[in-house]
Amino acid sequence: MIYPKMAVIGCGLIGSSVIRAARAAGVVGSVAVGEASPAHRAQITALGYADLVTDDMAEAVADADLVVFAVPVLAMGPAAVTSAAALKPGATVTDVGSVKVSVGDALRAAVPASVYVIPGHPIAGSEQSGPAAGFAELFQGRWVILTPQADDRPEYADATRQLSDFWTALGAQVDTMDAAHHDLVLAVTSHLPHLIAYNIVGTAADMEEVTRAEVMKYSAGGFRDFTRIAASDPTMWRDIFLANKDAVLEVLGRFTEDLQALSRSIRWGEGDKLFELFSRTRDIRQGIVAAGQDSAEPNFGRDRPASDGAPKP
Ligand code: NAP
Repeated sequence: MIYPKMAVIGCGLIGSSVIRAARAAGVVGSVAVGEASPAHRAQITALGYADLVTDDMAEAVADADLVVFAVPVLAMGPAAVTSAAALKPGATVTDVGSVKVSVGDALRAAVPASVYVIPGHPIAGSEQSGPAAGFAELFQGRWVILTPQADDRPEYADATRQLSDFWTALGAQVDTMDAAHHDLVLAVTSHLPHLIAYNIVGTAADMEEVTRAEVMKYSAGGFRDFTRIAASDPTMWRDIFLANKDAVLEVLGRFTEDLQALSRSIRWGEGDKLFELFSRTRDIRQGIVAAGQDSAEPNFGRDRPASDGAPKP
């Protein structure tokens, strides 16, 4: 047992997976859920993983030793404001948001100094959402990035170690990182790929010479993969792009330059340049598989829809 009481605010795919995994690992005592959606509250109650399910965020966090905010990133700050007065001094406050600078700032601005804010991001998930999509093995073998702030209090270092132990018990590997660096890395590995997917599916849908029926009927592997990514939750992704604007725009600028270079190579028949790039990218793919970070690999005995290789936010 690491935390006698855990509260999870926002209990969709990630929040419910945290609860299932923590229950399976036996690292929490009681579990309280603060959830805005009546339909999701009913599902969580039916799943039977939580001792308390409420729409009152303050009631959920009262007495909690660990509070996990698992709402869309722009909802983190408002959710923290609603529950701040009820937080227990000495509690650890964390989150699972896909953007770290703005979420860390919002959490720290909302809560009292007597709690320890340690933002986090599990690099695990899928294009599905809601509590029914969660599962206990979601974090097995995945990375969780913690972005602790500079804080001299020895208790803060203890709280960070404890949170790291928590994620390790859930099967994850834990890294700590500067929040701004996290946002740049994830802009490259996750946010830009989603932007490209949203764009390419939108472009195909808008091309007048190609009918919608043809897009569906002749959807080849590459396009089909993009449509899966582009089916990701619109609220979550709107929030990610708005909350990580600077890093996404920086990476997008670089991507656009590289795309122009590729376009020139195709126009001028520079096959050697195309071949060199495609060989390099194939090596990267093989590196990801070798590192065990390809969820399409038959690891961890997962048979859930989330194990489909979609990039993780
Ligand atoms: P989700 O399945 O949509 O769950 C979010 C839940 O929070 C929903 O039930 C939502 O209700 C509820 N909610 C929204 N605003 C709330 C508020 N102010 N107070 C209480 N509950 C609220 O989303 P998710 O995929 O679990 O993502 C949650 C967080 O994890 C996001 O910050 C995301 O960036 C991060 N994340 C996601 C993934 C992924 O692959 N999905 C991976 C890593 C990290 P409604 O449906 O009624 O809005």
